[in-house]
Amino acid sequence: MTTANRAACVIGWPVEHSRSPLIHNYWLRQYGIAGEYRRELVPREEFASFVKSLATRGYVGANVTVPHKEAALALSEPDDRARAVGAVNTLWLDDDELRSTNTDVEGFLDNLDVCAPGWDRHAKTAVVLGAGGAARAVIYGLLERGVERLVVVNRTPARAESVQRQFGERVSAARWDKLDAALGDAALLVNTTTLGMQGQRALTIEVARLPGHAIVADLVYAPVRTPLLAAAQARELRTADGLGMLLHQAVRGFSLWFGKTPAVTPELRALVETDLGSPPAKAAR
Ligand code: NAP
Repeated sequence: MTTANRAACVIGWPVEHSRSPLIHNYWLRQYGIAGEYRRELVPREEFASFVKSLATRGYVGANVTVPHKEAALALSEPDDRARAVGAVNTLWLDDDELRSTNTDVEGFLDNLDVCAPGWDRHAKTAVVLGAGGAARAVIYGLLERGVERLVVVNRTPARAESVQRQFGERVSAARWDKLDAALGDAALLVNTTTLGMQGQRALTIEVARLPGHAIVADLVYAPVRTPLLAAAQARELRTADGLGMLLHQAVRGFSLWFGKTPAVTPELRALVETDLGSPPAKAAR
Protein backbone atom coordinates (compact mmCIF):
# COMPACT_ATOMS: atom_id res chain seq x y z
CA MET A 1 0.00 0.00 0.00
CA THR A 2 1.39 3.46 -0.81
CA THR A 3 0.88 6.37 1.56
CA ALA A 4 -1.52 7.80 -1.06
CA ASN A 5 -4.32 5.43 -0.16
CA ARG A 6 -3.67 4.90 3.52
CA ALA A 7 -6.37 5.42 6.11
CA ALA A 8 -6.43 5.41 9.90
CA CYS A 9 -9.18 6.10 12.39
CA VAL A 10 -10.04 6.66 16.03
CA ILE A 11 -12.23 3.97 17.53
CA GLY A 12 -14.40 4.88 20.51
CA TRP A 13 -17.85 4.90 22.09
CA PRO A 14 -18.56 7.80 22.11
CA VAL A 15 -16.03 9.18 19.63
CA GLU A 16 -17.49 12.56 18.66
CA HIS A 17 -15.40 14.39 21.30
CA SER A 18 -12.08 13.14 19.90
CA ARG A 19 -9.74 15.83 18.55
CA SER A 20 -7.60 13.21 16.78
CA PRO A 21 -9.33 13.71 13.37
CA LEU A 22 -8.65 17.46 13.57
CA ILE A 23 -4.97 16.85 14.35
CA HIS A 24 -4.26 14.06 11.83
CA ASN A 25 -6.26 15.61 8.99
CA TYR A 26 -4.37 18.89 9.56
CA TRP A 27 -1.08 17.02 9.14
CA LEU A 28 -2.34 15.13 6.08
CA ARG A 29 -3.21 18.46 4.43
CA GLN A 30 -0.01 20.09 5.64
CA TYR A 31 2.23 17.40 4.13
CA GLY A 32 0.13 16.87 0.98
CA ILE A 33 -0.53 13.20 1.85
CA ALA A 34 -3.67 11.85 0.17
CA GLY A 35 -4.59 9.69 3.17
CA GLU A 36 -7.63 9.79 5.39
CA TYR A 37 -8.30 9.79 9.13
CA ARG A 38 -11.87 9.02 10.28
CA ARG A 39 -13.97 8.54 13.41
CA GLU A 40 -15.35 5.05 14.01
CA LEU A 41 -18.15 4.71 16.54
CA VAL A 42 -17.81 1.13 17.76
CA PRO A 43 -19.66 -0.34 20.77
CA ARG A 44 -17.85 -2.55 23.28
CA GLU A 45 -19.32 -5.81 21.95
CA GLU A 46 -18.14 -5.09 18.39
CA PHE A 47 -14.64 -3.85 19.23
CA ALA A 48 -12.80 -7.18 18.89
CA SER A 49 -14.26 -8.00 15.48
CA PHE A 50 -13.69 -4.41 14.29
CA VAL A 51 -10.03 -4.51 15.29
CA LYS A 52 -9.49 -7.92 13.71
CA SER A 53 -10.86 -6.58 10.42
CA LEU A 54 -8.84 -3.32 10.34
CA ALA A 55 -6.96 -4.34 7.18
CA THR A 56 -10.07 -5.45 5.27
CA ARG A 57 -11.67 -2.13 6.21
CA GLY A 58 -8.73 -0.38 4.54
CA TYR A 59 -7.01 0.79 7.73
CA VAL A 60 -3.27 0.63 8.44
CA GLY A 61 -3.85 1.46 12.09
CA ALA A 62 -5.95 3.32 14.60
CA ASN A 63 -6.17 5.31 17.76
CA VAL A 64 -8.21 3.78 20.52
CA THR A 65 -10.19 5.80 23.04
CA VAL A 66 -12.75 5.11 25.79
CA PRO A 67 -13.89 2.44 26.59
CA HIS A 68 -11.60 0.25 24.45
CA LYS A 69 -8.06 1.03 25.65
CA GLU A 70 -7.73 -2.05 27.90
CA ALA A 71 -9.44 -4.38 25.42
CA ALA A 72 -7.01 -3.23 22.72
CA LEU A 73 -4.10 -4.37 24.89
CA ALA A 74 -5.38 -7.95 24.92
CA LEU A 75 -6.07 -7.97 21.17
CA SER A 76 -2.65 -6.78 20.02
CA GLU A 77 1.10 -7.24 20.52
CA PRO A 78 1.87 -4.41 22.98
CA ASP A 79 5.28 -2.80 23.57
CA ASP A 80 6.71 -2.26 27.08
CA ARG A 81 5.02 1.13 27.44
CA ALA A 82 1.55 -0.18 26.68
CA ARG A 83 2.09 -3.12 29.04
CA ALA A 84 3.26 -0.86 31.88
CA VAL A 85 0.36 1.55 31.40
CA GLY A 86 -2.10 -1.34 31.02
CA ALA A 87 -3.79 0.39 28.11
CA VAL A 88 -3.27 1.00 24.39
CA ASN A 89 -4.03 4.20 22.50
CA THR A 90 -2.28 3.45 19.19
CA LEU A 91 -2.51 0.37 16.95
CA TRP A 92 -0.69 -0.36 13.70
CA LEU A 93 -0.38 -3.26 11.32
CA ASP A 94 3.18 -4.48 10.93
CA ASP A 95 2.88 -6.93 8.02
CA ASP A 96 0.09 -9.11 9.40
CA GLU A 97 0.78 -8.46 13.05
CA LEU A 98 -1.31 -5.95 14.98
CA ARG A 99 1.10 -4.05 17.24
CA SER A 100 0.33 -1.45 19.87
CA THR A 101 1.79 1.21 22.13
CA ASN A 102 0.72 3.92 24.53
CA THR A 103 1.91 7.27 23.19
CA ASP A 104 0.85 9.18 26.33
CA VAL A 105 4.32 8.37 27.70
CA GLU A 106 6.21 10.20 24.96
CA GLY A 107 3.43 12.81 24.62
CA PHE A 108 3.99 13.81 28.23
CA LEU A 109 7.81 13.71 28.05
CA ASP A 110 8.14 15.47 24.68
CA ASN A 111 5.84 18.27 25.80
CA LEU A 112 7.80 18.67 29.03
CA ASP A 113 11.05 18.80 27.04
CA VAL A 114 9.61 21.62 24.91
CA CYS A 115 8.02 23.59 27.78
CA ALA A 116 10.79 23.13 30.36
CA PRO A 117 14.02 22.17 28.56
CA GLY A 118 16.52 20.50 30.87
CA TRP A 119 13.83 19.67 33.45
CA ASP A 120 15.35 16.24 34.09
CA ARG A 121 18.72 17.65 35.19
CA HIS A 122 17.13 18.89 38.43
CA ALA A 123 13.97 16.78 38.86
CA LYS A 124 15.03 14.50 41.70
CA THR A 125 11.57 14.35 43.26
CA ALA A 126 8.17 14.51 41.59
CA VAL A 127 4.62 14.47 42.95
CA VAL A 128 1.98 12.86 40.74
CA LEU A 129 -1.69 13.47 41.55
CA GLY A 130 -3.91 10.58 40.43
CA ALA A 131 -3.45 6.86 39.94
CA GLY A 132 -5.35 6.02 36.75
CA GLY A 133 -4.07 5.13 33.29
CA ALA A 134 -2.69 8.61 32.61
CA ALA A 135 -0.78 8.53 35.92
CA ARG A 136 0.86 5.22 34.98
CA ALA A 137 1.97 6.68 31.64
CA VAL A 138 3.47 9.72 33.40
CA ILE A 139 5.17 7.62 36.11
CA TYR A 140 6.63 5.20 33.55
CA GLY A 141 8.06 8.13 31.60
CA LEU A 142 9.46 9.96 34.64
CA LEU A 143 11.20 6.83 35.93
CA GLU A 144 12.61 6.16 32.46
CA ARG A 145 14.04 9.68 32.44
CA GLY A 146 15.76 9.25 35.81
CA VAL A 147 13.50 10.91 38.38
CA GLU A 148 14.81 9.47 41.64
CA ARG A 149 11.74 9.67 43.86
CA LEU A 150 8.06 9.82 42.97
CA VAL A 151 5.16 10.40 45.34
CA VAL A 152 1.74 9.31 44.08
CA VAL A 153 -1.20 11.01 45.75
CA ASN A 154 -4.70 9.77 45.00
CA ARG A 155 -8.23 10.16 46.36
CA THR A 156 -8.58 6.38 46.60
CA PRO A 157 -5.45 5.25 48.49
CA ALA A 158 -5.70 1.62 47.31
CA ARG A 159 -5.15 2.70 43.69
CA ALA A 160 -2.04 4.71 44.63
CA GLU A 161 -0.74 1.69 46.55
CA SER A 162 -1.33 -0.54 43.54
CA VAL A 163 0.68 1.88 41.36
CA GLN A 164 3.42 1.86 44.02
CA ARG A 165 3.60 -1.95 43.95
CA GLN A 166 3.72 -1.95 40.14
CA PHE A 167 6.58 0.54 39.82
CA GLY A 168 8.67 -0.41 42.87
CA GLU A 169 10.83 1.30 45.42
CA ARG A 170 11.39 4.68 43.70
CA VAL A 171 7.63 5.28 44.02
CA SER A 172 5.74 5.89 47.25
CA ALA A 173 2.02 6.35 47.86
CA ALA A 174 0.70 9.18 50.03
CA ARG A 175 -2.75 10.17 51.16
CA TRP A 176 -4.29 13.42 49.97
CA ASP A 177 -4.00 14.96 53.45
CA LYS A 178 -0.20 14.50 53.24
CA LEU A 179 0.05 16.40 49.94
CA ASP A 180 1.12 19.73 51.45
CA ALA A 181 4.12 18.06 53.10
CA ALA A 182 5.14 16.39 49.84
CA LEU A 183 5.05 19.66 47.85
CA GLY A 184 7.97 21.24 49.74
CA ASP A 185 10.68 19.37 47.82
CA ALA A 186 8.82 18.55 44.60
CA ALA A 187 10.78 19.68 41.55
CA LEU A 188 7.84 18.58 39.43
CA LEU A 189 4.11 18.46 40.17
CA VAL A 190 1.86 16.65 37.69
CA ASN A 191 -1.93 16.58 37.80
CA THR A 192 -3.28 13.45 36.13
CA THR A 193 -6.69 13.59 37.83
CA THR A 194 -9.80 14.94 36.13
CA LEU A 195 -9.98 17.78 38.69
CA GLY A 196 -9.93 21.18 37.02
CA MET A 197 -11.61 19.86 33.88
CA GLN A 198 -14.66 21.76 32.58
CA GLY A 199 -17.65 20.52 34.60
CA GLN A 200 -15.47 19.04 37.38
CA ARG A 201 -14.43 20.44 40.73
CA ALA A 202 -11.39 22.73 40.72
CA LEU A 203 -8.08 21.35 41.92
CA THR A 204 -6.97 23.44 44.88
CA ILE A 205 -3.27 23.17 45.52
CA GLU A 206 -1.12 25.47 47.59
CA VAL A 207 1.39 26.20 44.85
CA ALA A 208 3.15 28.56 47.28
CA ARG A 209 4.49 25.44 49.01
CA LEU A 210 6.40 24.35 45.90
CA PRO A 211 10.07 25.32 45.59
CA GLY A 212 10.80 28.29 43.30
CA HIS A 213 12.40 26.04 40.65
CA ALA A 214 9.41 23.67 40.47
CA ILE A 215 7.66 22.84 37.20
CA VAL A 216 3.89 22.25 37.12
CA ALA A 217 2.26 20.04 34.47
CA ASP A 218 -1.47 19.46 34.04
CA LEU A 219 -2.88 16.74 31.77
CA VAL A 220 -6.31 18.39 31.67
CA TYR A 221 -6.70 20.25 28.34
CA ALA A 222 -10.25 21.63 28.60
CA PRO A 223 -9.77 24.33 29.70
CA VAL A 224 -6.24 24.68 28.33
CA ARG A 225 -5.20 27.09 31.09
CA THR A 226 -6.43 25.25 34.15
CA PRO A 227 -6.69 26.99 37.53
CA LEU A 228 -3.63 24.96 38.63
CA LEU A 229 -1.55 26.22 35.70
CA ALA A 230 -2.81 29.77 36.20
CA ALA A 231 -1.76 29.67 39.87
CA ALA A 232 1.67 28.27 38.94
CA GLN A 233 2.18 30.91 36.25
CA ALA A 234 1.16 33.64 38.71
CA ARG A 235 4.10 32.40 40.83
CA GLU A 236 6.28 32.47 37.69
CA LEU A 237 6.83 28.71 37.78
CA ARG A 238 7.40 26.92 34.48
CA THR A 239 4.33 24.99 33.24
CA ALA A 240 3.40 22.33 30.67
CA ASP A 241 -0.23 22.00 29.64
CA GLY A 242 -2.43 19.09 28.58
CA LEU A 243 -2.98 20.42 25.06
CA GLY A 244 0.76 20.22 24.37
CA MET A 245 0.76 16.61 25.54
CA LEU A 246 -2.30 15.81 23.41
CA LEU A 247 -0.54 17.12 20.29
CA HIS A 248 2.79 15.41 21.03
CA GLN A 249 1.14 12.04 21.75
CA ALA A 250 -0.33 12.08 18.22
CA VAL A 251 3.07 12.30 16.47
CA ARG A 252 4.02 8.60 16.66
CA GLY A 253 0.73 7.29 15.25
CA PHE A 254 0.90 9.63 12.26
CA SER A 255 4.46 8.63 11.58
CA LEU A 256 3.67 4.89 11.80
CA TRP A 257 0.60 5.11 9.55
CA PHE A 258 1.60 7.75 7.01
CA GLY A 259 5.41 7.50 6.98
CA LYS A 260 6.17 11.10 7.96
CA THR A 261 7.13 12.47 11.39
CA PRO A 262 4.90 15.54 11.74
CA ALA A 263 5.71 18.76 13.56
CA VAL A 264 3.73 20.17 16.47
CA THR A 265 3.43 23.78 15.35
CA PRO A 266 1.89 26.90 16.92
CA GLU A 267 -0.62 26.86 14.03
CA LEU A 268 -1.82 23.35 14.91
CA ARG A 269 -1.97 24.28 18.58
CA ALA A 270 -4.11 27.35 17.79
CA LEU A 271 -6.41 25.24 15.59
CA VAL A 272 -7.09 22.70 18.33
CA GLU A 273 -7.30 25.36 21.02
CA THR A 274 -9.96 27.19 19.04
CA ASP A 275 -11.84 23.93 18.59
CA LEU A 276 -11.69 23.33 22.33
CA GLY A 277 -13.65 26.54 22.63
CA SER A 278 -11.21 28.72 24.47
CA PRO A 279 -9.59 31.81 23.02
CA PRO A 280 -5.93 31.24 22.05
CA ALA A 281 -4.00 31.99 25.23
CA LYS A 282 -0.31 32.56 25.78
CA ALA A 283 1.68 29.44 24.98
CA ALA A 284 2.65 27.36 27.97
CA ARG A 285 5.96 28.49 29.36
P1 NAP B 1 -8.85 7.54 35.05
O1 NAP B 1 -8.08 6.28 34.85
O2 NAP B 1 -10.34 7.50 35.12
O3 NAP B 1 -8.28 8.23 36.40
C1 NAP B 1 -8.91 9.38 36.91
C2 NAP B 1 -8.12 9.90 38.11
O4 NAP B 1 -8.75 11.11 38.58
C3 NAP B 1 -8.09 8.93 39.30
O5 NAP B 1 -6.85 9.04 39.96
C4 NAP B 1 -9.23 9.47 40.18
O6 NAP B 1 -9.10 9.15 41.54
C5 NAP B 1 -9.06 10.96 39.98
N1 NAP B 1 -10.29 11.68 40.30
C6 NAP B 1 -11.44 11.71 39.58
N2 NAP B 1 -12.36 12.49 40.21
C7 NAP B 1 -11.76 12.96 41.34
C8 NAP B 1 -12.18 13.81 42.41
N3 NAP B 1 -13.41 14.33 42.43
N4 NAP B 1 -11.31 14.09 43.40
C9 NAP B 1 -10.04 13.57 43.38
N5 NAP B 1 -9.58 12.74 42.42
C10 NAP B 1 -10.44 12.45 41.40
O7 NAP B 1 -8.53 8.60 33.91
P2 NAP B 1 -7.16 8.77 33.07
O8 NAP B 1 -7.29 8.05 31.80
O9 NAP B 1 -6.03 8.48 33.98
O10 NAP B 1 -7.22 10.34 32.72
C11 NAP B 1 -7.07 11.31 33.74
C12 NAP B 1 -7.04 12.72 33.15
O11 NAP B 1 -5.94 12.86 32.27
C13 NAP B 1 -8.28 13.09 32.32
O12 NAP B 1 -8.58 14.44 32.60
C14 NAP B 1 -7.81 12.94 30.89
O13 NAP B 1 -8.52 13.78 29.98
C15 NAP B 1 -6.38 13.40 31.03
N6 NAP B 1 -5.51 12.90 29.96
C16 NAP B 1 -4.94 13.81 29.14
C17 NAP B 1 -4.09 13.39 28.13
C18 NAP B 1 -3.45 14.43 27.25
O14 NAP B 1 -2.94 14.07 26.17
N7 NAP B 1 -3.43 15.68 27.66
C19 NAP B 1 -3.83 12.03 27.95
C20 NAP B 1 -4.42 11.11 28.82
C21 NAP B 1 -5.27 11.57 29.83
P3 NAP B 1 -9.75 7.80 42.13
O15 NAP B 1 -8.76 6.70 41.85
O16 NAP B 1 -9.90 8.10 43.59
O17 NAP B 1 -11.07 7.61 41.43
